[in-house]
Amino acid sequence: MSEKILRNPTQEELKLIKEKNIIKSTPKKKENTEIKSKPTSIFEPKAEEFILPSGNLEIPEGKILVRRMTTIEEGIFQETVAEMVKEKNLSSALFLESINKVIDNCIKSSDVSVYDLSLIDKSPLFIFILGLTYGFEQTLELQCNGNEKIEGCKKTFAHKINLGKLDIKYVPEDYEYPKIISLEDSFDFPVKIELVYPKIGDEAPFISDTPDVLSQFLTMLKNAEGTLPDGNPITEEHYEDICINMHPDDKDKIKKFINDFSEFGSNVYIKKKVCKNPKCVWKEKRQKVLIPMESIFLNVF
Ligand SMILES: [Zn+2]
Repeated sequence: MSEKILRNPTQEELKLIKEKNIIKSTPKKKENTEIKSKPTSIFEPKAEEFILPSGNLEIPEGKILVRRMTTIEEGIFQETVAEMVKEKNLSSALFLESINKVIDNCIKSSDVSVYDLSLIDKSPLFIFILGLTYGFEQTLELQCNGNEKIEGCKKTFAHKINLGKLDIKYVPEDYEYPKIISLEDSFDFPVKIELVYPKIGDEAPFISDTPDVLSQFLTMLKNAEGTLPDGNPITEEHYEDICINMHPDDKDKIKKFINDFSEFGSNVYIKKKVCKNPKCVWKEKRQKVLIPMESIFLNVF
């Protein structure tokens, strides 16, 4: 236990852990993101292990070390909220970026940045950090899945829940990734593409208030193969044209991949007997409900 959970990890301790193969640093080179040297103080909260829903798709070890928030990270939120009020800018992108900064500060694995993680890791990881910081036991307003028109439900009920026992879906080890799709309806010549799910560092076109579908496709397109009518192979310079001119039926295949993959990690559910409404079909029955992220905030800030 004491070897798995680091207390105030020093460079030596991290090295030791790496040698023991418990958690290794990422061998990939970071090009777009600058990795800050993470300050270590003997007063710093101890780091805990977090298993990534994306498994080893982005981080070879499939797990990272994180600590709870400190006054610094709480300050980042307060500053963001103050800025949003002052600028009358309630853009969710601004708030989501401050979550990234907070998560990045809390990650204590050497050479791992929040921007390297899969987008599906973000919510579960952030909830884990909130749990470490404010306690895993929380009272939250959970909403019944009932039908408002038929049972007069969709009501919310206060429940004590444990943020450490949520229903997180992990990517299976044998999952086909990158996803290979044959574009059968788009062109007169065969084109095969390889898709990846966006990392947190690539989230901008996906969380923007004005979504940009072309940028979304280009972010996800990792490779394309095929032979053009003139006998030349498809290269990176054709990627944009491929994305622009894709047939709707082929686009649907991409959307299906996004939808399927989004089932992992990203939305965090709990299974519970949520509803106490006597008229509702769900009364006292276990149902799968979404964890309301916003109310965790309301609880703690
Ligand atoms: Zn109900």
